[in-house]
Amino acid sequence: MSYTHLLVAVDLTEECDPVIKRAMAIAGPNGAKVSLVHIVEPMAMAFGGDVPMDLSQLQQQQFDQAKERMAHLFAKYPDIKQGASHLVYGQPRQEIHHFAKEKQCDLIVVGSHGRHGLALLLGSTANDVLHGAPCDVLAVSLQKKAE
Ligand code: AMP
Repeated sequence: MSYTHLLVAVDLTEECDPVIKRAMAIAGPNGAKVSLVHIVEPMAMAFGGDVPMDLSQLQQQQFDQAKERMAHLFAKYPDIKQGASHLVYGQPRQEIHHFAKEKQCDLIVVGSHGRHGLALLLGSTANDVLHGAPCDVLAVSLQKKAE
């Protein structure tokens, strides 16, 4: 059984390259569709709720920057069609699951840092996405290889 629609969760850093490349290698031979999703987390959420200032302008800048970076990715990977991108505000796990269900994706591809020690306590997006996922999830290892 091969996959038909892959959803790649991109954090829009240089680390998305190996994640996108792996997804395209899986999709390519089967002619599967590849969609990208990036979630802009509301700033108030990052600051833990109550923030005594107006963050709307900063939030808009953050969104515009994400839009620009997404456009760069499409220029870099022309095999991914423009229409197949999704840029939303919210919480990554929730939005990735929502989009995967809505678009009937059968594989979610995320990067994974394989955290250990204290960093584990902070959790990881890959771990978060895995729980309750509506389809298969592939965690692409982003660990640096020892020289
Ligand atoms: P992290 O656990 O935050 O270091 O992220 C690991 C992976 O989760 C990244 O390589 C992306 O695949 C995905 N990811 C993290 N943040 C986001 C985001 N805001 N939107 C979409 N995917 C994300």
